[in-house]
Amino acid sequence: MDWESLAVISSVFLFGFLENLFPFFNFKQSFQSKTDTNLILGIVNLTASSLTTALLLNWVWQQSIWQGFFHWIKSPLLGIALSFLLLDAYMYIWHRWMHTIPIAWHFHKVHHTEVSMNTSTAYRFHPVEAIASNIPKLFLVLLFGITPRYLLFYETLLAIELIFHHSNWAIPRQIDKFLSYIIVTPNCHRVHHSESLKESQSNYASFLSIWDRLFNSYYYPQYPDKIKLGLHESYQKFNSLSLLMLPFAKKF
Ligand SMILES: [Zn+2]
Ligand SMILES: [Zn+2]
Repeated sequence: MDWESLAVISSVFLFGFLENLFPFFNFKQSFQSKTDTNLILGIVNLTASSLTTALLLNWVWQQSIWQGFFHWIKSPLLGIALSFLLLDAYMYIWHRWMHTIPIAWHFHKVHHTEVSMNTSTAYRFHPVEAIASNIPKLFLVLLFGITPRYLLFYETLLAIELIFHHSNWAIPRQIDKFLSYIIVTPNCHRVHHSESLKESQSNYASFLSIWDRLFNSYYYPQYPDKIKLGLHESYQKFNSLSLLMLPFAKKF
């Protein structure tokens, strides 16, 4: 197994273990009912997006029409840092679009129906959103000439960070607050999953929290334990099939 897959799988076990040992919220649902739906969606998303992007990425990296702007950067360290910043800024913009474009919100709200946020929530996305988010990313890879190694490096760290900030692990508040100056922490992301519309329109960043500070959407909760997760309408029970159909439902 390659180190990237090993690191992601280990982080699922690590943060899953920590959230069960030191939970932030004491959810009533069983472990299975909290994770089953999300893991099914995760498998569908992973399969669908790897099938659709693998061929396109292969073409992007094989073509010789355009080498990309980063082609002129000779330092690998600078190349990896700039690729990381560019991809992470894109993730911020994409997430903000998901909340501001009405049709996009219909798909993104699948992620926000979660009422017992835990590590498996990192995989609770509608496949249409999972696939669509790769299209502008492919364009950036082509335009800037982001290499397979740099893309894989960012995607691996992002996958770990998504598992971390969705986890229900009760990190001491001071440590969470300190970390939130650099990265998205569980408390920061809990606000984004708040039932309150005003609170959920904050903290759109995926990895580095600088984007929220830069674009005035950063908000650190004073009482994170008072946050009510989910949507007003999400009291009903959803299974993977009803979540897949949710964007097309007349009511909701
Ligand atoms: Zn969101
Ligand atoms: Zn989330």
